[in-house]
Amino acid sequence: MKYFSTRNSSKKVSSVDAILKGLADDGGLYVPETIPKIDIELLEGKNYKEIALEIFKLYLTDFTDVQLKKMIDSAYSDQFDIENLVDVKKVDKQFVLELFHGPTLAFKDMALSILPYFMVEAKKIKDINEKIVILTATSGDTGKAALEGFKDVPGIEIIVFYPNEGVSDVQKLQMLTTEGTNTHVVAINGNFDDAQRSVKEAFSNRELRKLLEEDGYVFSSANSINIGRLIPQIVYYFYAYFEMVKKGGIIKGDSIKISVPTGNFGNILAAYYAKEMGLPVEKLICASNENNILTDFINTGQYDTNRDFVKTISPSMDILVSSNLERFIHQVSDGNEQLIKDKMNNLKENKKFDIEEKSVEKIKKIMIADFVTEEEILKTIKTCFEKTGYLLDPHTAVAYSVSENVGENILVVSTASPYKFGDSILKGFDTNADELSVEDINLEISKLCKISVPKSLVNISKKEIRHHRICGINEIEKTIEEILKVGDKND
Ligand SMILES: *Cc1c(COP(=O)(O)O)cnc(C)c1O
Repeated sequence: MKYFSTRNSSKKVSSVDAILKGLADDGGLYVPETIPKIDIELLEGKNYKEIALEIFKLYLTDFTDVQLKKMIDSAYSDQFDIENLVDVKKVDKQFVLELFHGPTLAFKDMALSILPYFMVEAKKIKDINEKIVILTATSGDTGKAALEGFKDVPGIEIIVFYPNEGVSDVQKLQMLTTEGTNTHVVAINGNFDDAQRSVKEAFSNRELRKLLEEDGYVFSSANSINIGRLIPQIVYYFYAYFEMVKKGGIIKGDSIKISVPTGNFGNILAAYYAKEMGLPVEKLICASNENNILTDFINTGQYDTNRDFVKTISPSMDILVSSNLERFIHQVSDGNEQLIKDKMNNLKENKKFDIEEKSVEKIKKIMIADFVTEEEILKTIKTCFEKTGYLLDPHTAVAYSVSENVGENILVVSTASPYKFGDSILKGFDTNADELSVEDINLEISKLCKISVPKSLVNISKKEIRHHRICGINEIEKTIEEILKVGDKND
């Protein structure tokens, strides 16, 4: 399988090149030249890791089956708290796909625990001796998952930028207490969009790249712009389908609807890839919080970022510029690269773009989009808990709420453990969490969800804070130079 940029299909690269580079030189995102089909009969009865192998074989053709199997076994090990890594639970009329059983309690672990293995192996195959610098912008969860994944991996440095005021207390503590000699965490005085844009700019800054190259460094990305993030996320949709069959929710062959709490459009794009590969999916439900730019886009074809950025209780979805939308537009425009370049240029210059009626019609055949307000999120958490005893985190609650009136055979994607956002959840239960410590909040959550406090969170507020850097949005490149000590010839 070869890959090319959404902005230039004539320059094809291998899967290992696409993973190592992260973002294409022209600023576009790598896409597979075709989305491969799979006979889903082949996957029936297989466990999570076996399904992962079948999917990876189709996309990551530079690795041998033996290499793939080894990486899968190493990444998906006992750092997940259940055998099959993810779980599917019946909650009222819906099925909930729990993707938060990994080391950092959010779905980002599904891809970020294996991406470092892909990179190290790719480096070997390509005989690359430079140190790889993973640059990552995070709305909270990618950061910690990437830090854990890349921690102490030889030949790699990882730098994470997060919005200082835009993550939950637990998310912040998780990141700032990260150990490892190659991990760097920086708070930026801006929101996630600022962080993501600045990191992308650093990527494309030739001077900075040159400076780094002189000191033996190359950039890559752990954000979902990296195709190595997207591919592992396809696996759980196939796995979940067979779990729904097993649990009697559907009969094999039935079409399902998948509701995804969406931010950077990566998770829902993986669901779209699964559908294109042959998974029986009737509709994808794109669920947003009050940053409902994707709801407007899918319903009208207009993408307009000239609006207020809202800080919500589902901070991992507080995004106005969704990177992976570019890959989706590539699909619905039949790979029209000039069109994509024009749209992305419009986005850069005018902060908006729109797509043709015919593409909107196409999108509407595949997707439904809606959003929920802050109040509705809290109400959904409480109502669902009272009715079923199941505790949703605020992100999952967004997808759950939007899916309530769209019929049957619904899979709601649960992206985070309630423990990550305990303070917000308690608000819905009329508990004033402002006066409680993180440990007290965790205790309250454990009473509600009846799952004991995850090991990684026990006494987290007493762990040493190891990262102290703060920088302005325009200081990201300077900060990178400082951290890596490049360009400093007296050093
Ligand atoms: C990242 C994240 C999302 C959004 O996923 P995208 O792939 O960016 O659309 C939703 N919920 C949680 C908890 C997340 O960490």
